[in-house]
Amino acid sequence: MGEILAGALFMYIFKEASRNAYNNDRREVNFRKNFFKYFGLNLPHADAIDDVLRVLAPSELEQLKARLVAGLIEQKIFRKFRFLGKYYLVAVDATGMASFEQRHCNHCLTKTSKTGVVTYFHYVLEAKIVTSTGLSISLASEFIENDPGRDYEKQDCEQKAFARLAVKIKKYFPRLPICILADGLYPNNSVFDICAKNDWKFIITLKDGNLKTFQTEVGLLRATASKRSICRVDKTTRTNLEYTFLNDIEYKGRYFSWVECMETIVNIKGTEISNQRFAYITNVHQNLQNVAETADSGRLRWKIENEGFNSQKNLGYALEHKFSRTSFIALQNYYHLMQIGHMINQLVERCNQVVDILKEHSKQTIVDLWKKMMAYLIIFQCEDNLQIPYQPG
Ligand SMILES: [Zn+2]
Repeated sequence: MGEILAGALFMYIFKEASRNAYNNDRREVNFRKNFFKYFGLNLPHADAIDDVLRVLAPSELEQLKARLVAGLIEQKIFRKFRFLGKYYLVAVDATGMASFEQRHCNHCLTKTSKTGVVTYFHYVLEAKIVTSTGLSISLASEFIENDPGRDYEKQDCEQKAFARLAVKIKKYFPRLPICILADGLYPNNSVFDICAKNDWKFIITLKDGNLKTFQTEVGLLRATASKRSICRVDKTTRTNLEYTFLNDIEYKGRYFSWVECMETIVNIKGTEISNQRFAYITNVHQNLQNVAETADSGRLRWKIENEGFNSQKNLGYALEHKFSRTSFIALQNYYHLMQIGHMINQLVERCNQVVDILKEHSKQTIVDLWKKMMAYLIIFQCEDNLQIPYQPG
């Protein structure tokens, strides 16, 4: 089992992007020998991996992932990034995994176009620990899936999946102090309930259309709001940040705070180059000391999209690749292994040895480095007397 899972995991760590690419490398004798020399494992055929991943309960790999992340938390990897020195920032968002023209399995979500064409697809809701340095590490995943018996009208959705995801986070990390970061789909009473029940803080994006009564109240009290201005200067730009906040705004029997950040960036000549507004609802009571950290943390939410989903889609992990064309169980297992592989690589890419190489050669990139590592494993001739116990078919 160790060899099977390690094989699948290395498909992601090596950024092979498909089972076929993995098989091609595995066919090289040097590659197999080098892999055995460094890791003490045989490389199984991708079909053997697939056979196992079709029957292994996805909860097993999910648990493995949670244990690994718990280990990182114990080793204090995220400690210095905590919000207000206490709360781990956990961004929550959904992303597409794979879409199919034909029904892939009986858990597929479906979408019918105006012309009546049905597409079948899978979505996953993620909770990832995010940091200002760009780490985006999967804490828990919940698949948005249809129950085979249910009718089309009652498709599963992100909101329902969030309730299940919250249960999972609490199960695997019962005492972890968490602050949830989420987008404009999340300011609603059921999300506030879940956060209150679990004793979680939240900083949630407030869009113009969200929570009308709350926003009306904010509009009425705006003139009395407290403000704090910060100016950040670097070599080429000056960034002016104006933070505004209000506390104790009532919404359906609870009291929340409202935070707004206006950001203006000007260049050396004084010309404005960008002007943005961000607004949040939070259950963290605001004051002049914490308002900037609150709004800045709220903005880290996009790390789940950029460092999380986009990296997994476009930087070698092939998140949207159809790793299994028929099995939903296998699709989930590949997904969990991808999260573990990406987690390992994020840590490797930040270790001193790699950072030093990148610093030394200014044109060197992570992509180049991985290409060279793969070339080394394929071309470098291992000692001839190294015997690997298994010869693949
Ligand atoms: Zn399916």
